[in-house]
Amino acid sequence: MAPLAAREPLQRVTSLAPAKVNLSLRIIGRRPDGYHLLDSLFVPIDLYDELTVELLPLMGAGSSTIAVTADGIDVPSGPGNLAYRAAALLLGAVPRPIGLTVHIHKRIPPGSGLGGGSSDAATTLLLVNRLLGAPYGTEELAAMGAQLGADVPFFVHGYPARVRGVGEQVAGVGNGIGLALVLCWDGSILPTRAVYSQFDVSLTMGQGASNMATFVSGSDASSEWLVNDLEAAAAQIHPNLVSLKATLMEQGAQAALMTGSGSAVFGIWPDATGAGKAARRLREQGMWAEAVQTLERSPALED
Ligand code: ATP
Repeated sequence: MAPLAAREPLQRVTSLAPAKVNLSLRIIGRRPDGYHLLDSLFVPIDLYDELTVELLPLMGAGSSTIAVTADGIDVPSGPGNLAYRAAALLLGAVPRPIGLTVHIHKRIPPGSGLGGGSSDAATTLLLVNRLLGAPYGTEELAAMGAQLGADVPFFVHGYPARVRGVGEQVAGVGNGIGLALVLCWDGSILPTRAVYSQFDVSLTMGQGASNMATFVSGSDASSEWLVNDLEAAAAQIHPNLVSLKATLMEQGAQAALMTGSGSAVFGIWPDATGAGKAARRLREQGMWAEAVQTLERSPALED
């Protein structure tokens, strides 16, 4: 029999889960099992989902229970949600049965390369771990996250980072990145898998760290490092990406790039005021656009 959950939660915690952009995304090889090897500069940004996690007392013996709900933008509830899979992974490692609810107020467009699902999963790991008295450290949570997706370990760490391997190697790059960006999205959902299958790794193999190393050291302010190896593949599936980038440039961006495997693009602005004005103009044209800034640290991390 399923355990009964009492109405009053024992504990409850709410946190913001940030989106990300990839300022540089190189695919530098492929493992024998088919997974692509990345070399990418990931940066959290101040566009957020909001998660509320509650621990419920369980009456009687039984197994753990998890319920995940979402509002805002339409994403799966229950086991189809990455936050559910994160909670299941963590509770599976805890010896006693636990009742858990996760509610997501969704603002990050799904399937846009902004990493919303991965951020929700990482934030769930962080919040549930906190409610349980922090039995796991960051590295253990990041290793759990790696089982859920390539972007999840980055969000567990929550700072600007160079990400390599299949996402499990996360190295902080310090706090030197402070950029004003405009995000633009045309509502299309690009499945990551479809973009990767369109991508020909032999065309880019081996081009990895050099440009990014220059950027990270702060010695190169040009947009030479601003490259996404998946952009051409994504544009073959969804040609409107090219127009979105052109629109951002027309509005005053210094440079524009697709993030992740798409379909959102971002432009870099000299300052937040200009970015805010450009985002407003794009919204007046009926587009989804947000002015955002890069973050030094995810708010999901404990103080
Ligand atoms: P990434 O950049 O990490 O590859 P993405 O930003 O392109 O991912 P997500 O927002 O992670 O895309 O969503 C990808 C798909 O995952 C969605 O189409 C949705 O059906 C599913 N999904 C499951 N859980 C979530 C969630 N919590 N938020 C968003 N999408 C989710």
